[in-house]
Amino acid sequence: MKDNKKDIRALTKEQLRDFFVKNGDKAFRGNQVYEWLWQKSAHTFEDMTNISKETRQMLEDNFVINHIKVDTMQRSNDGTVKNAVRLHDGLIVESVLIPTKTRTTACVSSQVGCSLDCKFCATARLKRMRNLNPDEIFDQVVAIDNESRLYHNRPLSNIVFMGMGEPLMNYNNVIKAIDKITSTDGLAMSPKRITVSTSGVPKMIRKMADDDVKFNLAVSLHSAIDEVRTKIMPFNETFPLKDLKEALEYWYLKTSRKISYEYVVWKGINDKQGDIDAFVKFCKYVPCKVNIIEYNPIDDGEFQQASNDALENYITALEKNRIVVNVRRSRGKDIDAACGQLANKS
Ligand code: SAH
Repeated sequence: MKDNKKDIRALTKEQLRDFFVKNGDKAFRGNQVYEWLWQKSAHTFEDMTNISKETRQMLEDNFVINHIKVDTMQRSNDGTVKNAVRLHDGLIVESVLIPTKTRTTACVSSQVGCSLDCKFCATARLKRMRNLNPDEIFDQVVAIDNESRLYHNRPLSNIVFMGMGEPLMNYNNVIKAIDKITSTDGLAMSPKRITVSTSGVPKMIRKMADDDVKFNLAVSLHSAIDEVRTKIMPFNETFPLKDLKEALEYWYLKTSRKISYEYVVWKGINDKQGDIDAFVKFCKYVPCKVNIIEYNPIDDGEFQQASNDALENYITALEKNRIVVNVRRSRGKDIDAACGQLANKS
């Protein structure tokens, strides 16, 4: 028995096949185990019923499966479900299931806490503790898929990386997780149904374009004026709008895929005509659509949802310029599951 057993899901399929060959078994056994891990999401070696008892014991002696555990689950009266998920080292992240008439979306976390410092976001108040591993991201999706089948009688249809953390600051692991979620020897979901949301890290947006990723990109913009954006999203000082714009142009050039902008309108912060004009101008750089998100208060007097008139002014100006705009009502507010409310409160 080894003390420091390795997480078996850190191994690639090739490495698993090699492991079996080195231990006098067939490479094919690696495929079987891989299937148990990534298609059937086995929690224990015991579950692998087409593997002999001796082989299961051998796996047990060498590896662990660091599966996440849903610690607490809360259900909102609008059907939203929030999971507080315990990781193998005891840390907690949250993920959310958001059902609508036509789809069920999983909102998953990519980091424990967040390294960014958006002033309006509850998650930003938590220190970034660590990046999530690919399997920890994958497991959140599986847990939500199970809940979707259980409570809504249908499988998960979409995934958004809009939970805790900045996915582009944990790029490699996010990509590995998406690989497992989309590949046919994993969950076989279409990448077109996956959206990665970023506060806007220009270098990483360029990298994603170079890597020819097939999922969608959303950018949390909130202001197209540097001075305003830096005030509410201080890292904008390091990654100013000009750099972001150039990176987004590069993304579109390489992928031909529209970008979504996430945008909250706050009273006295970005609700003036000048803010609207700047945003409309920004929207014209690259084909895009806009999601106006309702503000979810986080016990802070500084930020307040703007008036309906201000929202209407935004919508009118965008539509006049033929930019598609959706207004997203909050979901799961009663259980602190809405955008920007994930802060391990439950
Ligand atoms: N770091 C990534 C992923 C987090 S997504 C990103 O910034 O895109 C979370 C989304 O909710 C972002 O669009 C964020 O700007 C938004 N958000 C954060 N706090 C919010 C709040 N209190 N109310 C509404 N939306 C909020």
